[in-house]
Amino acid sequence: MADTRYNPYITAQEQFDKVSRMLELDEPTRSLLRQPLREYHFLIPVRMDSGKVEVFKGFRVQHNDARGPAKGGIRFHPQETADTVRALAMWMTWKCSVVDIPLGGGKGGVICDPHSLTDREQEQLCRGWVRQVSRNIGPDTDVPAPDVMTSAKHMLWMLDEYETIRGGRYPGVITGKPVSMGGCLGRAEATGFGVVYALREALSELNLDPGKMRASVQGFGNVAQNAIRLFNSLGGTVTAVSCWDQAESRGCTYRKKDGIELEKLLEITDPYGGVDKDRARDMGYEVLNGEEWIGQEVDVLIPAALENQITPSNISRVSGSVKVIAEGANGPTTPGADAVIREKGIFLIPDFLANAGGVTCSYFEQVQSNMNFYWEKEEVLEKLDRKMTAAYRAVSSLASKKNLYMRDAAYVIAINRVAEAVRHRGWV
Ligand code: NAD
Repeated sequence: MADTRYNPYITAQEQFDKVSRMLELDEPTRSLLRQPLREYHFLIPVRMDSGKVEVFKGFRVQHNDARGPAKGGIRFHPQETADTVRALAMWMTWKCSVVDIPLGGGKGGVICDPHSLTDREQEQLCRGWVRQVSRNIGPDTDVPAPDVMTSAKHMLWMLDEYETIRGGRYPGVITGKPVSMGGCLGRAEATGFGVVYALREALSELNLDPGKMRASVQGFGNVAQNAIRLFNSLGGTVTAVSCWDQAESRGCTYRKKDGIELEKLLEITDPYGGVDKDRARDMGYEVLNGEEWIGQEVDVLIPAALENQITPSNISRVSGSVKVIAEGANGPTTPGADAVIREKGIFLIPDFLANAGGVTCSYFEQVQSNMNFYWEKEEVLEKLDRKMTAAYRAVSSLASKKNLYMRDAAYVIAINRVAEAVRHRGWV
């Protein structure tokens, strides 16, 4: 569960305010960019398998679309809040901007726990979500995608509902579709691989050999699994992963000091990224408390679960051996912890740069859907690597030229591009 003492929207606004002061942005631009342009809050009634109707709360937030249609995932999570969705929509704007793709920022969500919903109930929830926002999303206006606890199958139900309502075929209205239905090869890997493309560049700048690096990862879902896969293929070793234990409602860390075996661990992992604890013990894993991932004696920390995980109350637990934090999750670090990371001299690859691989690949999916012509996986991953590497290098070079913290440097580039777009459009 994300730490509820911290509000991610306040974090996102504090981060924005700090850099907008640095950039001396004028007041109207500041006011336009520090909050969402539009948001939709709605109810979704679903007839459950029991025959009873349950009412769920849904959101879609469009933070900014000056550079292109709003873009961003839909989360299904019991702790979803309007402010979490606002923060995530805002970070999407900066993410699309920092990798320089012609898209804005949006995000959606439903307060629900998919663990307790059958497939049919989830399908009804997806269709109900689209019925509520079908007038407000579209290939040229706002393009949703999967996020925490939603996947390709949810996107296809949503696409089908949208196309049924609109009476046509609109593959560009949603990304993260199954590959057989217009999805993009490499999309499943894109976010995790993107994190490691950026990490590879950082290690090279820091003269660190990836083959000698040990990492601890929070999360064991889509982003974490793929980041681990590529990190392993560069020779790195992951010694701990943590994930949510649904039965006990708490996080657990799984540690193997000589390195976890990804494919074997995946065999005992459920579709939500939860590991079977008893079988993990049988396979020789130490099972520790959820927070232990942060205190491991490793070189690299990869938070890839949820927001508000590195805070002033646990930052002192980060080992002196840690050289790099690569943020796979959105908003894993609170501003108070940022100051300590900087003080400790740990190199940070900020979330909206590190995890931009997913939306970059979603953009590739849109391009392919529009052309009705599909690329090979290798071509997708090559293009992704080029985009991520270029964005990383631009941020890192600005950071070293101006002696900026990496998060601030990423914000400078991202905010400047969006501010320029709103000025060119004559909005301010
Ligand atoms: P996911 O649902 O596939 O996996 C989430 C993982 O986090 C699971 O293993 C879950 O058990 C674990 N987890 C949840 N709460 C936890 C806790 N308190 N302690 C330890 N583990 C916990 O989600 P994902 O798609 O991998 O996304 C992870 C993060 O990356 C999110 O912040 C998401 O917004 C961000 N992100 C995802 C994508 C994408 O393409 N999937 C793109 C950009 C950013």
